[in-house]
Amino acid sequence: MSRLTRLRALLAPHTLDAMLIHKAENRTYLTGFTGSAGVALVTEREALLLVDFRYVEQAVAEALAWEVVHVPRQAVETLVELIRSRELRRIGFENDGLTYKQFEELGKGLQPAQLVAVDGVDRLRWVKDADELARIRRAVAIADAGFGHVQRYLRPGVRERDVAIELEFFMRREGADKEAFETIVASGVRSSLPHGRASSKALESGDFVTLDFGAVVDGYHSDCTRTVVLGGPSARQREIYDLVLTAQEAAVRGIRPGLAGRDADALARRIIADAGHAEHFGHGLGHGVGLAIHEGPTLSPREDATLEAGMVVTVEPGVYLPGWGGVRIEDLVVLTTGGCEILTTAPKRLIVV
Ligand code: ZN
Ligand code: ZN
Repeated sequence: MSRLTRLRALLAPHTLDAMLIHKAENRTYLTGFTGSAGVALVTEREALLLVDFRYVEQAVAEALAWEVVHVPRQAVETLVELIRSRELRRIGFENDGLTYKQFEELGKGLQPAQLVAVDGVDRLRWVKDADELARIRRAVAIADAGFGHVQRYLRPGVRERDVAIELEFFMRREGADKEAFETIVASGVRSSLPHGRASSKALESGDFVTLDFGAVVDGYHSDCTRTVVLGGPSARQREIYDLVLTAQEAAVRGIRPGLAGRDADALARRIIADAGHAEHFGHGLGHGVGLAIHEGPTLSPREDATLEAGMVVTVEPGVYLPGWGGVRIEDLVVLTTGGCEILTTAPKRLIVV
């Protein structure tokens, strides 16, 4: 089924006459248009892509199956007019796609037609097709090469932010559109900050250094974390690293279609909890990756959704000890019929630099 057909399948269950798409990832996924502004309006018979002057030419070239409508910038009135003239009564919108202000303006303008919040448009993107997977693989390969490259820069005295800059510069030069998110380089006691942004702190001998990074290729993201140690690891560092690695590898071995997100999460959480570190693993095991760096399904104690072949998710347990440091190891995997294929190739044994 085409992406548009799958979106239209949401109309009947919600008794909708039309669906509005505001979120950038969904707009790109459905229309092929990669510009950063625009609204899609889909009815049973029509597929309209509304863009302003800046994007008309690009939209016509990219959104081949769509009728491109040139509208003034941020023109609620034009959208209202298009909907009114078609006598559409119930209009769906992504429940996380509009600001409150947009919702109010649009809702007022459309009366008596009704705006209906719809959950589940994002879900259309969860299972990747071959073309999407190929882009993700390229994004992974660039990030993996980046990790290999940046290791030679890891030494005492180098600032975290300089490591991040070198890694990002390398990935751009190798063909990445951009970095997938703000690169994390967290060393020493800062490695207990799961999202410690690269700071001006210099790396020191004995530090754990956690690097969390990714590339974007043709809109698709990769996501990888590795933790290395500067100089011979202490017994404690070795113990925590081995625990996280054991949990990560157990999760990768056990993850497969049919598991609920919460069951996948438990594969690693159980091992970390048994070692007495339940409270030091405070985030979920993983998340979907695609046109967005964080998308569904999540692997977490609260996720009911069932994993399916073709989903691309991270597997990233961590143990963080405040005031001491932490370890996270993250691979990107694609669910296959019987289990998963690990896309990330960066080594996972403890690297001593
Ligand atoms: Zn990450
Ligand atoms: Zn991640």
